[in-house]
Amino acid sequence: MEKHRIYFDNNSTTPVDPRVVDMMLPYFTEKPGNANSRSHPFGWEATAAVEEATSRLSELLRIKEEELVFTSGATESLNLALKGLAEIWEGQKNHIITCSTEHPAVLDTCSYLEKKGLQITYLKVDSKGHIDLNEMEDAIRDTTICVALMWANNETGVIHPVVDIGKICRRKNVFFVCDATQAVGKIPVHPKEADIDLMAFSGHKFYGPKGVGGLYMSSDKPRPRIKAQIHGGGHQNDLRSGTLNVPGIVGMGKAAALASLEMRDEYIRIKGLRDQLENLLLENIESTSVNGDDYHRLPHVCNLCFKYVEGEQLMVNINSLVAVSSGSACTSANPDPSHVLLALGLSEGDAKASIRLSLGRFSLQEDIIPVFDIMKTEIEKLREESPVWQMFKDGVDLEKF
Ligand SMILES: *Cc1c(COP(=O)(O)O)cnc(C)c1O
Repeated sequence: MEKHRIYFDNNSTTPVDPRVVDMMLPYFTEKPGNANSRSHPFGWEATAAVEEATSRLSELLRIKEEELVFTSGATESLNLALKGLAEIWEGQKNHIITCSTEHPAVLDTCSYLEKKGLQITYLKVDSKGHIDLNEMEDAIRDTTICVALMWANNETGVIHPVVDIGKICRRKNVFFVCDATQAVGKIPVHPKEADIDLMAFSGHKFYGPKGVGGLYMSSDKPRPRIKAQIHGGGHQNDLRSGTLNVPGIVGMGKAAALASLEMRDEYIRIKGLRDQLENLLLENIESTSVNGDDYHRLPHVCNLCFKYVEGEQLMVNINSLVAVSSGSACTSANPDPSHVLLALGLSEGDAKASIRLSLGRFSLQEDIIPVFDIMKTEIEKLREESPVWQMFKDGVDLEKF
């Protein structure tokens, strides 16, 4: 029998719920229609399926059906929102406010726009991962197009006060663009209650398939207008051309329906498991701390710093049992420390000594103790081999060197 491997990396991507797979399968085979084909039943069937999915997503998000644009995922949605706004306002407004802890989908898009001549303000965060709302308000200028801030952080799970952010944006007459990718399907996300004008999300972060996502575009005043980034056929009111990913959309719709029904119970169950694991680690492994606000936080995420432990090495040593993520961006052989943890004020060493555990729908009670055990064992082993840890134990303050 194959060994049970535990997946605690749900913030990277979630497994597709089998009920979602079942719902999608016919749309690859017996129901192959293009939702844009108006002249035969195959097309009508696909159109109806997309409409049904749209309605399920609208219900989850409490938005109107015509306010949803389907994309290939949150990265595309955020590119569409930010570049789309910047192009509409070209020649009139040229400033965007964002934050140093955003996802690369926002940060890299902003730095692209910066090269094109836009001005970008990157707000700082405090040690818990929160921006200063007064600082945000003060950063708004006459030329500000939008504020782009995420609902919840993918690395720490820290939840921004989106309702307060939205109020300020509305009062100052700038658009609020929100990356809600980690929050949708995990906690209540109702963009209208937070005065959000444009909001991105992605199917594969809430038990739907990869390669499909959405952009909410408010139709309320002041209605945001954006320029399309993908041309060819004028699909979706000319905002995003290209044949709709019918199986993907159907799957994301089913995932939304499941979230609507099960999110509340799931929140309680997963938070219970997360808290149990986190408390075991905090209480039984010395010099361990939570990164970011441990209260205003997604229920399934736990980002911990184990002082003087090489996170990358720890991850490798435990990966035969459990998959987690380290406090580094593994884009190269020598990974850089996470920009999010550095923004919280962690040293490079502490950032690299951090591990993110993200639980999910398929995490089990019986996973908790084995994960705790292997982490404790491997952390103690790594520390025993570490001269730096030994010096720290001897009372040498290494930060002073
Ligand atoms: C995963 C993620 C994205 C990117 O989503 P894709 O669907 O992979 O494009 C953007 N923002 C956050 C916060 C994420 O967690």
